[in-house]
Amino acid sequence: MGNINQSIAELVGRTPLLQLNGYIRSQKLEAEVIGKLEYFNPNQSVKDRIALAMIEEAEESGELKKGDTIIELTSGNTGIGLAAIAASKGYPFRIYIQDQVSKERFQVIHAFGGETVKLSEVPEIAESMEKYGPDFIECVKALERAVKDEKNIWFADQSRNTANPNIHFKTTGPEIWQDTDGGVDIFVGCVGTGGTLSGVGNYLKSKNPDIKIVAVQPTEDSFQSPERPEQEEITGVHPFENVEERFIPANLDRKVYDEWYEVHTDQAYEAARELARKDGILVGVSSGAALYVATLLAKKPENKGKKIVALFPDTGLRYLSTHLYEAE
Ligand code: PMP
Repeated sequence: MGNINQSIAELVGRTPLLQLNGYIRSQKLEAEVIGKLEYFNPNQSVKDRIALAMIEEAEESGELKKGDTIIELTSGNTGIGLAAIAASKGYPFRIYIQDQVSKERFQVIHAFGGETVKLSEVPEIAESMEKYGPDFIECVKALERAVKDEKNIWFADQSRNTANPNIHFKTTGPEIWQDTDGGVDIFVGCVGTGGTLSGVGNYLKSKNPDIKIVAVQPTEDSFQSPERPEQEEITGVHPFENVEERFIPANLDRKVYDEWYEVHTDQAYEAARELARKDGILVGVSSGAALYVATLLAKKPENKGKKIVALFPDTGLRYLSTHLYEAE
């Protein structure tokens, strides 16, 4: 039979670890900094894992049936992952997406035959944003109100769907454990829905409770505001510390992380650019943020010789229309 895959579902996961030797030398680090390269997934992000897991779990439970339209509210990668799996399985797909995310994201979803609806075009969501600002959780509630009378739809709902952290517990965590021969000391991950950090963190701690789990959030001035209308954000990553309880996604297990750090977009950009120059890999902004924190940890004397794994959620190619890799 050879080794011929029969659907993109078979290409999801089993992504490689890469020790960032060029970067380690250029930064004079004395710890081993290792990237988990999630852009090796078939649609170039960690979200392919949850897209497949959420759809297959809903098919098995009967919640998602042939002919249903899959819907989701995302800033991009989950939408792309879902659109691709939906295309390959024959489901119509509709994404509700922030107006200001990069143009590439809209193009890719349209390429998969998916429909995009900007949040500002849905009266219930526009109303919610006027009242609460761009809060993701309030937007999800507004979307539920907007589609409540529509038949034959299935809402993937990544911030509450437990298939999200569960697939990281079942696959991403074990891959890191096996590929380091159980030698990982510290895991660094960004938080959006919290699915990656909670699933990987809980798995690694179940194998060795001494493994340190480190969470990353954006600084407040990494967000667009009337004072900073041009500010580029760490797409897909949201604050979870020093925020109101209602902003914290259900899928973030707040007991799983030992420490958390804040990163500014510019710090994330600089780390990602240096990685491209020294190791020849192109990653997205949140990967740069995870690498920036891994670097801070690698510089601490107590972490000398330790293995620090940072998860890189997506590819830098998804950011070519931003300033991330703009020629200087
Ligand atoms: N980085 C990027 C680029 C993302 O799209 C996301 C998901 N929104 C994350 C990081 C955070 O991952 P999670 O939702 O699993 O916390």
